Amino acid sequence: MSLDPDCIFCKIISKKIPAKIVYEDEFAAAFEDLNPQAPVHILVVPKKHIPEVHAMSAEDREIVGHLFLAAKKIADQKGLHVKGYRMVINNGAGAGQSVFHIHLHILSGRRFSWPPG
Ligand code: AMP
Repeated sequence: MSLDPDCIFCKIISKKIPAKIVYEDEFAAAFEDLNPQAPVHILVVPKKHIPEVHAMSAEDREIVGHLFLAAKKIADQKGLHVKGYRMVINNGAGAGQSVFHIHLHILSGRRFSWPPG
C-alpha cells in the first residue's frame, strides 16, 4: 500500500481524518461522500494512491478492477441492485474530478438521467 501524505483520501484510508467507512478490505476502502448527490452516495477507493485512471499502469489493473467487485459487495449489502445504481469515475479536472486519488462513485436511491450533466 503506497499512500500520499498530502492526499485527503489517503488520510481517510490511514484513519488520519474521519469518514463514515462502509467497507474495507486489503485493497480497497469505501466511505460516504461528504456532499452526497443522491440518497446513497459512496466512494470506493484503492488503498494504493493512484491519482486518476489515466495514470494507472498495467500492474494496477487488478487493484482498479477490484473497485468494481467491492462496489458489487456494497450494493449487495445495501440492496442497491434491486432498483439499480449508477457508478461514475471522473477523470481529470475538465471532467469534474476534484480529488486526485482514483474513486468510483456509487449513487443510488433516486432516478438518474442520461446523458449525465
Ligand atoms: P470527484 O469530483 O469525482 O473528484 O469526487 C470527489 C468527491 O469527494 C466529491 O463528491 C466530494 O464531495 C467528495 N469528498 C471530498 N472530500 C471528502 C471527504 N473528506 N470525505 C468524503 N467525501 C469527500
